[in-house]
Amino acid sequence: MTKRAATVLLMSPIMACTPVAGAGAGAGSGIGVGFRTPAPSSPAGPQFTPGTAGAGDPYFPEAGNGGFDAAHYDIALAYRPKGRRITATTTVTATATQNLSRFDLDFVGNTISDLRVDGRPATYTRQGQELVITPPAGIPKGARFAVTVRYSGRPRVLQDPILGRTGWLPTKDGVITLSQPTGSETWFPLNSHPSDKATYAFHVTVPKGFGAVANGEPHGTVQKGANSTFTWSSTRPMASYLAMVAIGKYIVRDGRTPKGVRSISAVSTTLDGAPVTKIKGRAAAGGRAKGRRGGGVAGMADRLQTTTARVTDWESSLFGRFPFDSTGGVEGAIDVGYSLETQDRPVYHGDAEQLLVVHELAHQWFGDSVSLARWKDIWLNEGFATYAEWLWQEQHGGPTAQHSFDEAYKRPASDAAWKRETGDPGRDQLFAFFPVYTRGAMTLHMLRKTVGDRTFFRILRTWAHDRAHSTGTTQQFVAVAERVGHRNLGPMFDAWLHTSGKPRI
Ligand SMILES: [Zn+2]
Repeated sequence: MTKRAATVLLMSPIMACTPVAGAGAGAGSGIGVGFRTPAPSSPAGPQFTPGTAGAGDPYFPEAGNGGFDAAHYDIALAYRPKGRRITATTTVTATATQNLSRFDLDFVGNTISDLRVDGRPATYTRQGQELVITPPAGIPKGARFAVTVRYSGRPRVLQDPILGRTGWLPTKDGVITLSQPTGSETWFPLNSHPSDKATYAFHVTVPKGFGAVANGEPHGTVQKGANSTFTWSSTRPMASYLAMVAIGKYIVRDGRTPKGVRSISAVSTTLDGAPVTKIKGRAAAGGRAKGRRGGGVAGMADRLQTTTARVTDWESSLFGRFPFDSTGGVEGAIDVGYSLETQDRPVYHGDAEQLLVVHELAHQWFGDSVSLARWKDIWLNEGFATYAEWLWQEQHGGPTAQHSFDEAYKRPASDAAWKRETGDPGRDQLFAFFPVYTRGAMTLHMLRKTVGDRTFFRILRTWAHDRAHSTGTTQQFVAVAERVGHRNLGPMFDAWLHTSGKPRI
């Protein structure tokens, strides 16, 4: 994620963003997990027990669930522009990781009309964000099962005073979903934690004149009466916060980068002539806003394709093969003040400038393909994407990464921003710019200086390759760096990631 006006020109990384300040309230919806009745079990047979209501992440205790591993989401939704309402059926295919008497999915809002497990009606209750499901019979450990939920309603926007707005976000012409750290549970039932990655299929039915773009690749459009159904699928595992549909009126470009990666970009026609630089309360903090760059929406779509191609190929040369089957981007008129690295194609709030594309596409390797196992390791996403910006500038006539580091290091030791531990910034500081983004990038620069350029880039490529389509932790990254670098890097990483205060050089 990048909290930055899309069209703001940034040459100095330290002016990029307003640091997220202050302490905040507890978890977004302030929802308890609820009382659990004892599980049915027989003294003679195997014990069946309920799955936990959370994935065990201390930053977001209610997010995700225990007792099963989601493998695939099939989401079919029909969208009505009036009220931005949906009628939907989602099927979650999962494998039990224990003998399950009961399990939870994360799901908020909407009205459920039918819920089945393997085709048989199941009982359920709703407690805050938990959809608690009791299947007609216990599910044995290792068994594959399918939960089908039919529902309708107007999905919510989640409002977190610190982390911002996520979920089902209205635009002028429709809706875009953005869900970091959570928010997908506003429009489909799921295991809402990045540690449980799954593949996705989206079937989005919209009235004539509307379009739908999502993660993955398109599989045709079926017209039926006054409606069109767009099908997209992501066959590479994806963290749930990256699931994205953009419904509205889009100009779409579908082509290939010079290196041959398919690229699909979409720009909302509502951005034509619209002052897309105006981001509530952020224009002044973000720097000088640029005006429209001409060519209308078609020009924006061409520019997004060209920039995406250039950046995707350049990053492949540094980080290794592009991890997915297609790249691209979506530019929409969302009033959230950030862009997000949604898998395959990031969503930009307006006309994206080059450095922002560099940041969000770097996440395709670092964050999307190699995902977080727990939110405290967020620097593995943001520090890497920020360092990609430094590298881009260094190789394209801008300041060197050393210069960017030096500028950041000028911050006085008395500054409170040094107090945060980059390796465990705290829930409310998840997107704090200096502690997570900048100091994360500084950590990588220190690694580069310690091991030298050749080894440094080998470490990045090894990390991206060995953990592709999986997850990774800070300890695992340090282990890769030490193995490839043939040296003990513990003290260096400790000083930069796990120490409060300004590290000495
Ligand atoms: Zn980011």
